[in-house]
Amino acid sequence: MTTAVPKKPHALQVLLVDDNPIQLSLLRHLFQRHGHATIEARNGAEALIVLATETPDVVVSDCIMPLLDGYQFCRLVKDDKATRHLPVLLLTAQGAGLARFWAKTCGADRFLVKGRDLDHVVEAAVALAEQSPRPRATHAPPKLAQENFGVEAIQRRLAQALEQRLVETALRDSIARLYTADHDTPRLIQGFIEILQELVLPGALMVAYLGEDGVWCEGVHGSSANPEDRAALEQTLTEQGPFPVPPSCHWHPAADDDERRRTLRNPVLRVFTATTPGYPAVGALAFMTERQAAEDFERLFEIAAEELGRLLSLEDSRLRLYHQAIQDPLTGLHNRKHILDMLGIELDQCRRFGQELSIMVMDLDHFKSVNDRFGHPVGDQVLSAMAQRMVFGLRKVDQLGRIGGEEFLAYCPQTDLLGAKSLAERLREHVAIDPLPGLPSLDRVTLSIGLAYWEGGEDTLDLMLSRADKALYQAKSEGRNRVIC
Ligand code: GH3
Ligand code: MG
Ligand code: MG
Repeated sequence: MTTAVPKKPHALQVLLVDDNPIQLSLLRHLFQRHGHATIEARNGAEALIVLATETPDVVVSDCIMPLLDGYQFCRLVKDDKATRHLPVLLLTAQGAGLARFWAKTCGADRFLVKGRDLDHVVEAAVALAEQSPRPRATHAPPKLAQENFGVEAIQRRLAQALEQRLVETALRDSIARLYTADHDTPRLIQGFIEILQELVLPGALMVAYLGEDGVWCEGVHGSSANPEDRAALEQTLTEQGPFPVPPSCHWHPAADDDERRRTLRNPVLRVFTATTPGYPAVGALAFMTERQAAEDFERLFEIAAEELGRLLSLEDSRLRLYHQAIQDPLTGLHNRKHILDMLGIELDQCRRFGQELSIMVMDLDHFKSVNDRFGHPVGDQVLSAMAQRMVFGLRKVDQLGRIGGEEFLAYCPQTDLLGAKSLAERLREHVAIDPLPGLPSLDRVTLSIGLAYWEGGEDTLDLMLSRADKALYQAKSEGRNRVIC
């Protein structure tokens, strides 16, 4: 089975696996000609048995072989902590379709097509061996070496590895499915916790994440994870996670905890940062559970943290894009499109329920002269400060947006013209009370405001806007700094 050829300094020891003797000898000659030593096996099962006693630098394996094929062999190698670091290069006769797909999903480090790429096989194997991390000196012996290995042991290991892979895939899948078109972040986190809680209960599980207004923290706990346990978990997450846990972590008892009502034995605390490549850390996952569960499910927790990182960064991108799409960047108010969209929806409500609604179109007076006298950057500062002042007196249901350079629109549901007029007057006075940033202390910028209200029946958004515009125009022509209906 093995043809040990003495290893030269800096030469590699290569495990060659192929059921075809001609192919095997071809590979042997290729590698030996470059001064590398080879060990050989005729199928995946033999190769695993070799790995129980030998530690090659790299494996070059055929895919289709009897007993245990290259994909299964590779899966077992990558499934075992003791051999995971070992680079595997798969060789196949076909270069397309399922062959390449399986090679990727079984964890192979490189995939080459026999006919086309064989010239590069030595070069590729050497490159893989050089890139791969050296195993730690004290690493565990391969799982197979610990067993009474033979075909049965290999089959058992294969079944376990496939089962494990199935569980991992199902976990990834169920977490990824949480991300649907209509969700919000808290619901996403709730769903994530529901999926994972079975693995940690009767302990506790926490998720901390960077929401829109800072760090949020949600947790679920079994009946035997008492308040001190939870405080300890919060403390650990603060120490080991990417950001401190806020004092208001929301804890919920597990819904169906009765059947697990048992004491937490030998608990351990673990923290996993939820991050996705190329993205800053967006969350963390922490749990307290029994030592045995923590060990058994370690890989699942790693996967969950990875998937959580992916979900949270998707969510972060989605919110960023959403805000970019609806916000005016200078003032932070709604942009023209968004305020008009919302107003359109509000008008539908008025039509259905016969409610009142008023709108105000506001334009800064002589704003051009601010730019002319103090420069455009000061103009921007003033515009921004005026926008902040314009929310004065508005209720939660009222909305304000920037619809042009120095023109704004506010709408007030369930407000008649009289109410709107008094609000507009107070607003007009309020914006001119205090000095503005960048302007001499006595300089003020005033507002002209045109009002219109929903007249019911056939009235439309365009008609309302044009009435408000007309009123605004009249306010300008009558001397500015005034409200006209
Ligand atoms: P009126 O009282 O008649 O409204 O006079 P006005 O000068 O405010 O109006 P006009 O429409 O003549 O000029 C508007 C000015 O607003 C001109 C433009 O440079 C300025 N402006 C528009 N958008 C911005 C902006 O984003 N930043 C700054 N700094 N200035 C802006
Ligand atoms: Mg103006
Ligand atoms: Mg204008």
